[in-house]
Amino acid sequence: MRALHVAIDGPAASGKTTVARGLAARLHLLYLDTGAMYRALTFLALQTRTEADNAAALRHLCEAGLIRVELDAAAPLGFRVFAGDAELGEAALQSNEVTAIVSTVAAHPAVREAMVAAQRAIAARGSVVMAGRDIGTVVLPDAPVKIFLTASVDARVERRRAQLARAGVDSSTHLLKEEIEERDRLDAGRAVAPLLAAPDARTIDSSEMSADQVVETIAAIVEGVRAEA
Ligand code: C5P
Repeated sequence: MRALHVAIDGPAASGKTTVARGLAARLHLLYLDTGAMYRALTFLALQTRTEADNAAALRHLCEAGLIRVELDAAAPLGFRVFAGDAELGEAALQSNEVTAIVSTVAAHPAVREAMVAAQRAIAARGSVVMAGRDIGTVVLPDAPVKIFLTASVDARVERRRAQLARAGVDSSTHLLKEEIEERDRLDAGRAVAPLLAAPDARTIDSSEMSADQVVETIAAIVEGVRAEA
């Protein structure tokens, strides 16, 4: 059977990772949250005192093979991500320090080139549900299933608060709203691979839906695509 690629894009805290992971489990596919790769690079940049605006140095960190991912459904995140020798967990990836500058790090074309190449190499190995901002538009433009997952800012603030609580990261609702809106502004406004629904993506507004309902909705779309193939 041909590999199945499912692209799930959307703004910050729209529920992409929960839904992508749930869908992957439901369909027995592997899963990768590409945001974790940009977050791992940002973590490493902070650790090595590399400035967020130093594109060449950031690219060098990517090319030195220091950011690695392994797809592993049994891992706590549903995949493994490493910065150097260290495997990173939710607390490191979702820290406020990382979140504050990750969109600046991710805006550099040189960084994106390296990340996109790594993501395509992973997809070339087989079926995967990939979540991010540019999966349907840039990373996997031929993916047969593309979802653009949105939700109201209020719903997203609530989801982010719950996610951070699970990760043990301190937060306040007020700061979360600012953080989410600022990242959306940077992600949607950047010159290369901005946050954008692919023309052939199905948009799902999940403000009033549970994660399970969204998973079921996308699973039905996947079944439809498989039936046509
Ligand atoms: O998905 P998450 O919020 O963890 O992503 C963190 C940041 O990584 C985003 O705000 C965005 O700047 C960047 N990102 C990206 N392209 C992706 C995934 C994430 O630019 N495919």
